[in-house]
Amino acid sequence: MSKILNDGRIQSKGYAMLSKDSRFTPYEFTRHSIGDHDILIKILYAGICHSDIHTARSEWGEAVYPCVPGHEIAGEVVAVGKKVSKFKVGDYAGVGCMVNSCGECETCKISQEQFCQKAVFTYNSVDIYHGNENTYGGYSNNIVVSERFAICVPKDAPMEKVAPLLCAGITTYSPLKFSKVKEGTKVGVAGFGGLGMMAVKYAVKMGAKVSVFARNENKKAEALQMGVSEFYTSTDKNLVKERFDLILSTIPTPYNPVEYMELLKFGGELSIVGLPPYEVAPKISVIDIVYNAGKKVYGSMIGGIAETQEMLDFSLKHKIYPETELIQVHEIDKAYENLTSGKAKFRYVIDMTKEN
Ligand code: NDP
Ligand code: ZN
Repeated sequence: MSKILNDGRIQSKGYAMLSKDSRFTPYEFTRHSIGDHDILIKILYAGICHSDIHTARSEWGEAVYPCVPGHEIAGEVVAVGKKVSKFKVGDYAGVGCMVNSCGECETCKISQEQFCQKAVFTYNSVDIYHGNENTYGGYSNNIVVSERFAICVPKDAPMEKVAPLLCAGITTYSPLKFSKVKEGTKVGVAGFGGLGMMAVKYAVKMGAKVSVFARNENKKAEALQMGVSEFYTSTDKNLVKERFDLILSTIPTPYNPVEYMELLKFGGELSIVGLPPYEVAPKISVIDIVYNAGKKVYGSMIGGIAETQEMLDFSLKHKIYPETELIQVHEIDKAYENLTSGKAKFRYVIDMTKEN
């Protein structure tokens, strides 16, 4: 049960890293009270995204500690603010990478809230709408979120599978739509983990001919089962004969993006979502850009709320679900180790049902 304190704040129990090289430890904190447009969600499942690792280990700049990561959240609405219209108590809801934004700027107006200058991200973010307090994510028993940022999930949805859709799902669905993937489009997916697997599943469903670029053949069988045509463990141009309309890079480690630009057709696009640690992030020189003229490179960042709802509806309708492995809270450190040592398969999901 989530306890509401006398001042309206919500008592929460989460799992936090206390410094960039600590282990996860139980951490009690409070969340802001339930405003008129907010809902309180009891968290059932929380996916582990590689962004959680980058953030908690301060690989993207110094994190705020204690750091409670988690932005793939699936749960049940247990309280609603006075003016909430989208949800009632007992509904299921999902929360992704954002919990608030200004709602008034150009990007908010077109539901690209992730680009709002005043967006508040789900964890390790300054909540300017609540006294500049730090935000804490989904490795916890509850969350309070503005209803605009909660995604409607039907009551019969498999919640353990819904959680990873809130980041891995939208982050791959969005660029595939942006690049207008359709029947016959040749798509390459670089990095075949949590995001990569969702990119493959969506692109196959959209009718694309899909190839995977990985570091080894460990997950080749799974890729072929998902409908992948070619599985490469090298980007050597002489070995890769095909050329692509779109390559989506989900790689979280240092690599050479130019090798992928060289594999594009004329007019082809390299979409980058993987964001390696800042200190080792690859750079692309103007020389490589000009020598690869006639091709486009763009970054993509999660997706807006309207598109996240569209992605969720699409996934449920077509039963496109992530491959998941359910773990308990004491296994988070081990999951992080596996995700950074090539031992993980696809998506770990933390079972939070016992924490409530
Ligand atoms: P995972 O760890 O689940 O998957 C990454 C995969 O990439 C692993 O299978 C890994 O293989 C593979 N890989 C690593 N290095 C290479 C390489 N050099 N060549 C080919 N494959 C490689 O991570 P996620 O899918 O959760 O996240 C991926 C990245 O996307 C992260 O950097 C994350 O921060 C970022 N991200 C970006 C978002 C955005 O909005 N732009 C949103 C969400 C995530 P192996 O098993 O061998 O290690
Ligand atoms: Zn993520």
